[in-house]
Amino acid sequence: MTFEQIKKADQQYVMNTYGRFDLAIVSGKGATCRDESGKTYIDFTSGIGVNSLGWGDPDWVKAVSDQAATLAHTSNLYYTLPGVELAKTLCQQTGYAHVFFGNSGAEANEGAIKTARKYSFDKYGPGRSTILTLVNSFHGRTVTTLAATGQDVFHNYFFPFTEGFRHTPAGDFEALKAAADSSVCAIMMELIQGEGGVIPLDPDFVHKVAAFCKEKDILLIVDEVQTGIGRTGKLLCSQHFGILPDITTLAKGLGGGLPIGAFMVTDQLKDVLGASTHATTFGMNPIVCAGANVVLKKVANEAFLRTVTQKGEKIRACLTCIPEVESTTGLGLMIGVKLKTKKSADVAKACLQKGLLVLTAKDKVRLLPPLTITDEELTKGIQILWDVLNS
Ligand SMILES: *Cc1c(COP(=O)(O)O)cnc(C)c1O
Repeated sequence: MTFEQIKKADQQYVMNTYGRFDLAIVSGKGATCRDESGKTYIDFTSGIGVNSLGWGDPDWVKAVSDQAATLAHTSNLYYTLPGVELAKTLCQQTGYAHVFFGNSGAEANEGAIKTARKYSFDKYGPGRSTILTLVNSFHGRTVTTLAATGQDVFHNYFFPFTEGFRHTPAGDFEALKAAADSSVCAIMMELIQGEGGVIPLDPDFVHKVAAFCKEKDILLIVDEVQTGIGRTGKLLCSQHFGILPDITTLAKGLGGGLPIGAFMVTDQLKDVLGASTHATTFGMNPIVCAGANVVLKKVANEAFLRTVTQKGEKIRACLTCIPEVESTTGLGLMIGVKLKTKKSADVAKACLQKGLLVLTAKDKVRLLPPLTITDEELTKGIQILWDVLNS
């Protein structure tokens, strides 16, 4: 099929829920991909923070292919090795006690919400089920995680939304304290708001919230769906803040390109969800977990994480020399670029034309390159961005 034929068939048969760019990607290797005409593009998106090892990492491909040939799926009624290995590594590397595997970020957050509500129900009885989240947050697209998301634009059409969510402004500890009445069982937040514009939380605010949660037996849930698994230069972004939240959720970068979500809980929460309180058909899928095992083995390594930080610094240093760039935000290879005059969507389109894939987040250009991106690919990508922003 030609590009025009693919585009036409997509519009004819696929639900029209995405504003797609004029590009059909047919193959990729590392941080470089090709369209159907053979034109190449440097990837500063990782498929929205998913392809942490880029495309076609040989170890990942081998693990996934071998597992597909060995045992692709069985139900969660039986034990399988890849998911057990993944759980063990995740817990050992992060300090959490137990992990539950689902299939997406929204589902991971749903599990965290269920855990928080049941913990509180078991201990305090009904009525203590409210979860505070932050204004401008993003937690997913299910009816419950939309309710959790602190942006009014998401609270349309699909009424009634799940009850029991309240939003307080990021960084305003007094407002949060005032909102945390006796009905509150948990506070959920991203440490760097991703979709909201790559906006990091103030560490002082985070520390105050963490201490407040401990004091009130309110659970702290940190949504690391975008920031987790090395993206910010640490395995978990919470390690930058020196906290271990009661629950951390993961998804995007964990599978290296296959769908996975996970929530991890501390020792005090490990028995909250018992038999038949939570389940999913596809969760802990052996192929997906085999891929994730390779990702985690590479990423959970000090030397590797240092390269992520260095690559991030290199991009930031280059960007700050561009007159059009007002500032950069984020940590490691999660980068927001605030522009002086240009619109982020226009910049993304112009970059695509010149052979660079970038994302946007509100008014910012958002860069989430594969953690394994080579120096050469980085330099090429930065050059294109430079050209577009200086034109
Ligand atoms: C992407 C994202 C989600 C939703 O993940 P899905 O896999 O699309 O359900 C939730 N929280 C954050 C912070 C995200 O970036």
